[in-house]
Amino acid sequence: NNNVENKNNYKYNNAVGRVSVGIGRKRKRIVVTGGAGFVGSHLVDKLIARGDDVIVIDNFFTGRKENVVHLLGNPRFELIRHDVVEPILLEVDQIYHLACPASPVHYKYNPIMDTGVNGYSIKRYFIRSSYFSLEFELRSLTCDYKTNVMGTLNLLGLAKRIGARFLLTSTSEVYGDPLQHPQKETYWGHVNPIGVRSCYDEGKRTAETLTMDYHRGAGIEVRIARIFNTYGPRMCLDDGRVVSNFVSQVIRKQPMTVYGDGKQTRSFQYVSDLVDGLVALMENEHVGPFNLGNPGEFTMLELAEVVKETIDPSAKIDFKPNTADDPHKRKPDISKAKELLNWEPKISLHEGLPLMVTDFRNRILNEDEGKGN
Ligand code: NAD
Ligand code: UDP
Ligand code: UDP
Repeated sequence: NNNVENKNNYKYNNAVGRVSVGIGRKRKRIVVTGGAGFVGSHLVDKLIARGDDVIVIDNFFTGRKENVVHLLGNPRFELIRHDVVEPILLEVDQIYHLACPASPVHYKYNPIMDTGVNGYSIKRYFIRSSYFSLEFELRSLTCDYKTNVMGTLNLLGLAKRIGARFLLTSTSEVYGDPLQHPQKETYWGHVNPIGVRSCYDEGKRTAETLTMDYHRGAGIEVRIARIFNTYGPRMCLDDGRVVSNFVSQVIRKQPMTVYGDGKQTRSFQYVSDLVDGLVALMENEHVGPFNLGNPGEFTMLELAEVVKETIDPSAKIDFKPNTADDPHKRKPDISKAKELLNWEPKISLHEGLPLMVTDFRNRILNEDEGKGN
């Protein structure tokens, strides 16, 4: 119970309007953009549990109120519906900037939906073929770019005005289709600037550039995390990412859609490891960038095997054409984070996947019951 937790753990200090948390640490005011999303909501849970005040800014583009509903009665938690493309005025100590439409596709049983959100339009297609899927990605990635550039600029402007520390959640996608394996932070990447994925890759690269410019030019304290593929409870059921796709498909007794020959690789990190890494980075003195990922590397066929073993040994595979510019391999070199942040992931794919499956089973069951099935 949050109120009990609040009463027992924190002493209000009316003189400065702050609360002491544990020994020697001041309670912080922290904003998490994208805090109603998958990673953001787990991060918010950790910050609230350690006694800080948290403001979430989210426009619910891919996030959900359900992810933070358990915090709504907590006096240290505040939820603001806001698009980070627009400026915002707040007073906080730290900014975790996660807001970004990170998942490619939301399948909608609505042929075309045009939602004019702050000047850009999003067309959603009911996807039956890979061609329509590509069209959708193009549009959603365009708002990706705007969010990454204008949103990051606004949050950096905020950090500059109030002297807050700013953490950017960048991505392993900045390495593109890498020619170095595994990827170190010193690698500058191999990115197609005009391809269908470029808005996300280049958007995050520009966000990194802005972050470093504000650091050097305006003296802002910044941190940059390059996050590798992360999975866990609260991921969108149908967001198009591979782990959530495979898990949803097998629970629904559908074949797993493997794109291309399935020999491309990714390295999958469990969400609590990532959240620990983000907090370690924010609290440490190093700017980064830091790779935050689990070096355990899997082909998509191997991943399909693990999902099969975990949920249903009779699950089948359906091969589909791959999307353009799909990186062939990806694996983080995390020696920098190990040495300077004393951080490394603890949870293997075999340990983490069942935790996600439990959450997905419950949500899919609720969905089915909602439809009267
Ligand atoms: P997510 O889609 O679950 O969360 C993103 C959140 O941002 C959502 O709640 C969404 O509603 C919100 N948002 C999007 N555009 C916004 C806007 N303009 N204004 C306000 N809110 C907005 O995705 P996630 O996996 O939790 O990703 C969080 C961050 O981590 C993103 O920046 C993403 O690029 C980065 N990242 C994630 C992964 C991963 O594998 N999950 C990998 C690399 C990087
Ligand atoms: N900004 C904001 N909140 C603030 C301060 C700035 O949203 O508290 C926005 C501001 O509207 C601008 C961006 O951040 O679009 C960059 O701000 P900065 O002061 O660096 O640039 P300037 O306004 O001088 O162009
Ligand atoms: N992928 C797949 N089936 C799916 C979704 C994705 O085989 O249903 C593949 C995709 O082609 C890519 C890998 O899985 O090679 C990871 O895709 P995802 O979108 O999860 O992450 P990213 O490409 O951003 O690393």
